[in-house]
Amino acid sequence: MNKYTIEQFNNQFPDDDACLEWLRYKLYPQKIYCPICKKPTKHHRIKNRKAYGCDYCGHQISPTANTIFHSSPTSLRLWFYAIYLMSTTRRGISAKQIQRETGVTYKTAWRMFSKIRSLLQEDTPALTGEVEVDETYIGARKHGKRGRGAGGKSTVFGMAQRKGDVSATVTSDLKSATVYPIIKERVMPDSMVYTDEFRVYDRLKGQGYHHKRVHHASKVWVIGNVHTNTIEGFWSVLKRGISGVYHAVSEKHLQSYINEYAFRYNHRNDSSPMFFHFLAQIKP
Ligand SMILES: [Zn+2]
Repeated sequence: MNKYTIEQFNNQFPDDDACLEWLRYKLYPQKIYCPICKKPTKHHRIKNRKAYGCDYCGHQISPTANTIFHSSPTSLRLWFYAIYLMSTTRRGISAKQIQRETGVTYKTAWRMFSKIRSLLQEDTPALTGEVEVDETYIGARKHGKRGRGAGGKSTVFGMAQRKGDVSATVTSDLKSATVYPIIKERVMPDSMVYTDEFRVYDRLKGQGYHHKRVHHASKVWVIGNVHTNTIEGFWSVLKRGISGVYHAVSEKHLQSYINEYAFRYNHRNDSSPMFFHFLAQIKP
């Protein structure tokens, strides 16, 4: 992945105008559709407004409308800078760090942080070929709840295509009725699926998958190419990130943190900088 330095950022996005122009050409690469003229027309920048006007009828549109920037009093340049900060660090940064770096209030920083992270839910193609499927537990122990060795933590169900993408979902439990619909939606039939010995996976073969497993309880982690090291690698990055950067995550927000880590993971081999993958997700 190519580096995108703070100098490059400052050169490309020196002020609000530069950010607005970038957004305008991202959302409307050519002419802008004018609802009054009922056709795509040329538009010009309206001075001192985050808007462009139709050359013929003067109707105005704002590229920020219905995006994460919608009606935000925070300057577009600060938003772009927060996106830069969140995308450029390997493990992400917290709302507290955004507050410190940008000088906005904690409430504003938290709002920006949540909105930016909401961009990172991505529809990736279904996994295929060699796919590792595994479950894990994240978060603080909750009293009075039990799961499979979970001690009441949140259950997360995930899958990773070797040399490919990951997909992970917070689930209410790990019953067949919960996990099989996820597998069927996220993994192509006829794929080779690797798991541990957990009994929920007993039915995989009957569901149109090839299936091999390792027996973790017997401390067997790898037999030839049968292992779940890829998805476990993702779990460890996710857990280290959550405990190191965010300290703890409530169940309500857990899925969006997972989406952020999956997004980074799934773009890890792209040549263009992560900053532009984040920006590419902005839509009305
Ligand atoms: Zn018009």
